[in-house]
Amino acid sequence: LEKQTEELDAREDRNERFADVQPIVKYNNITKSFGELEVIKGVDLELYPGEKIAMIGPSGSGKTTLGRLLMTLEEPTGGTIELDGELLWHMEVKGKLVRADEKHLHRMRGKVGMIFQHFNLFPHMNVLRNVTMAPRTVLGLSREEAHDRAITMLRKVGLEEKLEVYPSQLSGGQKQRVAIARALVMQPKVMIFDEVTSALDPELVGEVLEVIKEIAREGEMAMLLITHEMEFARDVADRIIFGAEGRIVEQGTPEQIFENSQSERLQSFLGRFA
Ligand code: ADP
Repeated sequence: LEKQTEELDAREDRNERFADVQPIVKYNNITKSFGELEVIKGVDLELYPGEKIAMIGPSGSGKTTLGRLLMTLEEPTGGTIELDGELLWHMEVKGKLVRADEKHLHRMRGKVGMIFQHFNLFPHMNVLRNVTMAPRTVLGLSREEAHDRAITMLRKVGLEEKLEVYPSQLSGGQKQRVAIARALVMQPKVMIFDEVTSALDPELVGEVLEVIKEIAREGEMAMLLITHEMEFARDVADRIIFGAEGRIVEQGTPEQIFENSQSERLQSFLGRFA
C-alpha cells in the first residue's frame, strides 16, 4: 500500500508539473499514408516541456514515422502538428493561415533534434568538427563559440578525449555518443531518440543508455524516446505510449503500463520481453 501511495504521489506531482504549461508538441488527429498504406491512423499526442515520453510497440506500428513528421522529414496526410505554439506546416500571414515557406520550416526544425539508429556521422571529419559543423553553418556561431559548446557536449557524453579522432576509429557506442553530442549542441527544445541502440553490439548498449539517462535527468529538454529497451523506458520516462498499427492503444505512467496494463495487446507485447 505504501508503495502504491508513493506511486500515486509521484503521478500527481507529474500531473501538477504539467497542469499549467502549454505543450511544446501537439499532434492533432494526425494521419499519414504512404500511397495506399495508412501507417498513422489519427494520433493525438501532447508532449510537455521537460517531459520524457517513451514510445513502445511492435515494429511497423508507426513510431518512427511520428518522429519523422515532427522533424519535418515527412509531411502528414491529415491533421496538424503544433510545435512551441506554432503550426509546423502552416504560418500566419496577415491573420490568415498559409502554407509554411522554407524559412518558417527551417526555424521550426531548429527546435527539434533527432538521433537515428545509424549515426550518420561525417566520415571525413574528426569528432570535434562533426559536432561544430551545424552550429557554425546553421546557427552562425563563431569558431570559438561553436568549439566551446561542442566541448561541453562532448564532455557530457564522455568523449572529450576523442576530439581529433575520426569516426572510423570509434566503437559503435562512441559513434552514437558523438551523434548525441551533435544533436545536443544545437540546443533543441525537443529531442527524438529513434531506437538509438538497436544497431549496437549488446555490450555497447549500456553506455549509450546511461548517457541518455543522464541527459534526461538534467531536465528541461522534452524527449521522445522510441525504444525496445523496456527497462530503460521504465527508468527514464514520465509517460509511456504503447502504439500498434498506427494508433495509440494505451498510455500511462511506467507503473500503469508495466504493472497494470489494460489491453490484451499490450499484455501480449510485454510478454515478449518477460
Ligand atoms: P515503427 O517505427 O513503429 O517500426 P515505422 O514508422 O518505421 O514503424 O513504419 C510504419 C509503417 O510505414 C511500416 O509498415 C513501414 O514499412 C511503412 N513506411 C515507413 N516509411 C515508409 C516510406 N517512406 N514509404 C513507404 N512505407 C513506409
